[in-house]
Amino acid sequence: MIVTTKELFQQAYGKYAIGAYNINNLEQTMGLFKGNVESKAPFIVQLSKGARSYTHKRMLEALMQTADEIFPEAVFAVHLDHGDEETCMDCVDSGVYSSVMIDASHYELEKNIEITKRVVDAAHAKGLVVEAELGLLKGVEEDVVAAEHVYTQPDEAEYFVKQTNCDSLACAIGTSHGAFKFSGDQKLRFDILEEIQKRLPGFPLVMHGSSSVPPEEVRRINEAGGDIKGASGVDASQFLGAAKLGVTKINIDTDGRLVWCRVHREFFRDHPDQFDLRGPGKVFMPEYAKFIAEKNVLLGSAGHLDEVRTALKK
Ligand SMILES: [Zn+2]
Repeated sequence: MIVTTKELFQQAYGKYAIGAYNINNLEQTMGLFKGNVESKAPFIVQLSKGARSYTHKRMLEALMQTADEIFPEAVFAVHLDHGDEETCMDCVDSGVYSSVMIDASHYELEKNIEITKRVVDAAHAKGLVVEAELGLLKGVEEDVVAAEHVYTQPDEAEYFVKQTNCDSLACAIGTSHGAFKFSGDQKLRFDILEEIQKRLPGFPLVMHGSSSVPPEEVRRINEAGGDIKGASGVDASQFLGAAKLGVTKINIDTDGRLVWCRVHREFFRDHPDQFDLRGPGKVFMPEYAKFIAEKNVLLGSAGHLDEVRTALKK
């Protein structure tokens, strides 16, 4: 059942966070849906601009609709990750997406408001909801690069949400995109979240760039021929603390890529005579499902599926 992120956030607010997972292909789709159904979690499928152009945007939309048929018990949102205005409008018209993110955070405040508001008006008219962003995350997100964190200002967040009427807000509190998130003992700025929650009580907040980059996963990749050095991520034990402060959506992309990389490197290292893509694919799908189920436990979303479905059917 495809629902909006807003409907999922209403159920989760203050209690747990919904996992938002980026996918690009068939094997990820199968693993993602299996992992969420098995751990009984509502979830968000994130499709980025890069994912839409990797094969074809219509291919991904068809995957979502078919997955909905194959897994009738799944409750999920189909969400555009980091869209520009043009891509958001395309998703609004697609008939498949239930939620879009307009990321105009690299523009100055008033221009960000102006662009976000146009997308909100178009999306709401068709029953979709909108995530917007204020502040800049350090790291690379497809074609946008930020050298330093620009933390979200709580006063600006309140003003921005009131001006744009967006449905959720991605905040910059020290997470970053990619596999190299922290140097030294940098911490997440929960004090900023607290201030934003005071000004916007009950309003859903989003944490991007929240992969954990497990050292064990990096070690296995490197032992199987990889060369990933100095990678680090977000401590997953902080997810529930963030959820209490109004974070209802936590984005996880890098960790899923690491699972893919580890499975494929180890498979071909251990089976140098094989060349069938289904060999590693058969290992990857259940491994990805297991990864998703474990994340959902850390996010607190595992086990909530039946209650969410019942609430949404009323
Ligand atoms: Zn992001």
